[in-house]
Amino acid sequence: MKIKDIGEFGLIERIHARAGRSSYPVVIGIGDDASVLDVGPRNQVVTTTDMLVEGVHFLREAIDPFDLGFKSHAVNLSDIAAMGAVPVQSFLSFGLPADMDVEIVDVFMDGFMEVGAGVSLSGGDTVSSPHGWVISVTVIGLAPSGRVLRRDAAVPGDSIWLCGPVGDSAAGLSILLGQTTRVGQENAAFLVKQHNRPSPQVRMGRILLEADISKCAIDVSDGLLQDLGHICDSSKYGAELQLKAIPLSGPARELASANDKDPYTWALRGGEDYSLLFTVKPEKEKKLLTVLEREKIEAVSIGKIVPRAGIRVYKDGDEIDTGPDGGFDHFRESGE
Ligand code: ADP
Ligand code: MG
Repeated sequence: MKIKDIGEFGLIERIHARAGRSSYPVVIGIGDDASVLDVGPRNQVVTTTDMLVEGVHFLREAIDPFDLGFKSHAVNLSDIAAMGAVPVQSFLSFGLPADMDVEIVDVFMDGFMEVGAGVSLSGGDTVSSPHGWVISVTVIGLAPSGRVLRRDAAVPGDSIWLCGPVGDSAAGLSILLGQTTRVGQENAAFLVKQHNRPSPQVRMGRILLEADISKCAIDVSDGLLQDLGHICDSSKYGAELQLKAIPLSGPARELASANDKDPYTWALRGGEDYSLLFTVKPEKEKKLLTVLEREKIEAVSIGKIVPRAGIRVYKDGDEIDTGPDGGFDHFRESGE
């Protein structure tokens, strides 16, 4: 059997099955946005790692080294945000072609340090790579004991909320790949920036945990439907989404209509948004709205968790066909 036959998630399951058990108090291991380790009565250590590979996650000609540095840190901070933790330490490992200009690495570092104020770059590894850049980043965060936001904590009746954009990143990528062409300069710059410099929702995640507004969150990295699917699968429930409640930016709408594309496809399946998807119990909604107003953060309710498995999307009261499940899978030939 080949890896492409079972896909990225099938492979992770196989790895998980061979992982064995730890004698240390790992509260959450494989399967959430980050792992959680008990280290004492007060805090838990939250760790995540993500890799970016040239030709898979970025094209060297298409991305500025500053943006690449920014993005490789931001995507990890986004996983920490999805746990409601505070990021404290980063580790950066590089595989680099020997003939690369060192100034490129300087600019990469400027971008890396631009995002995640206060986080300490505390180590890493540097090796040569014969086939392009490989960047691996690990971020460690802290959260008060027993309170991290988990993928498996949604229950029927919870409303589903989204903080941050969806669809802009995929729209920006379509411009970079030349799949959309009719676009004004300002819109193009906005959408490409959304793709290259995503904003991890660290402040929102932390507020959700500290104000006890939510127990359940995930960051949208592989597409809204797929990441909501992870919440549903882990929590063993389903979800109903209201299509028109999903926020689309003006530039994404304009790009879509000028190029005869459906902007909701970008929003539902696009991936690389790094927005925060979370669920809220009805009795906590008032508190959420108060906090959003006070903190000047925008988040919108887009649906609810229901007992029946699967995700159903409604438009004006009618269920719509969103095609086969799934977003990006690294090993499927149909991926992205
Ligand atoms: P995310 O999109 O939040 O970064 P992924 O979809 O990449 O998460 O991974 C899903 C889960 O599988 C995470 O808990 C991740 O840590 C774990 N995982 C992925 N690859 C491996 C691996 N090679 N070994 C162990 N765990 C892995
Ligand atoms: Mg994640």
